[in-house]
Amino acid sequence: MAGYPMAAQIDKKLVSWLKEAHPDYTVVAYINTTSEVKTLVDVCVTSSSVVKIISNIDNDKILFVPDRNLGQWVAEQCPDKQFEFFKGGCPTHMRMRKRDVIRAREEHPNAKVLVHPECLAEVTELADFAGSTTEIMAYAKNSSEKEFIIGTESSIVQHLQFECPDKRFYLLSTECVCHNMKMTTLADIYNCLLGQAGEEITLDEETITGARRFIDQMILLGQK
Ligand code: SF4
Repeated sequence: MAGYPMAAQIDKKLVSWLKEAHPDYTVVAYINTTSEVKTLVDVCVTSSSVVKIISNIDNDKILFVPDRNLGQWVAEQCPDKQFEFFKGGCPTHMRMRKRDVIRAREEHPNAKVLVHPECLAEVTELADFAGSTTEIMAYAKNSSEKEFIIGTESSIVQHLQFECPDKRFYLLSTECVCHNMKMTTLADIYNCLLGQAGEEITLDEETITGARRFIDQMILLGQK
């Protein structure tokens, strides 16, 4: 069964401790956290919405969990806010390094480098564009350029190559593979839909109510 490394990096106990240590801060959590963690934090963000939501928070002090790379990237876009970070992140994106960007550019000198902000700063700083998966895909589809080096999970290269057959997409590194994600196959989904596989997840009422508040806040701040 697939796990989720980033969500496993932080639990309710850690969030409680962080809140005690940072009483004046608004706690912002990436959507890639557990339902239990979502009950304790103030607002949830996706990589597409994070800059807008944090800009709309009525507090200059932001504690961002758990992905430090994404948090640091956001901090650069929101210079009027003061940030503290939890030192977590996506193991797949953290395996991509500056040397991969240099090598990929040498191999494909005409290609634009598009990366996800879950990558290390040494990677995002060298890229032509950093953005969420949706933003990377939109950039590649709408661009008049013909070649792209993609610095996020490998399946995005396959999606883009399928959707843009007249363009060429290269993986930034052979390390850009999320082994957890790959554990769920199309056959698993099919069998799940037939009721022959999968696992039903049930949450208690307190978790459902608490996590819903967190999601509602994300929608509210994302609309401002
Ligand atoms: S590659 Fe994506 S799905 Fe895999 S751990 Fe990282 S953020 Fe999660």
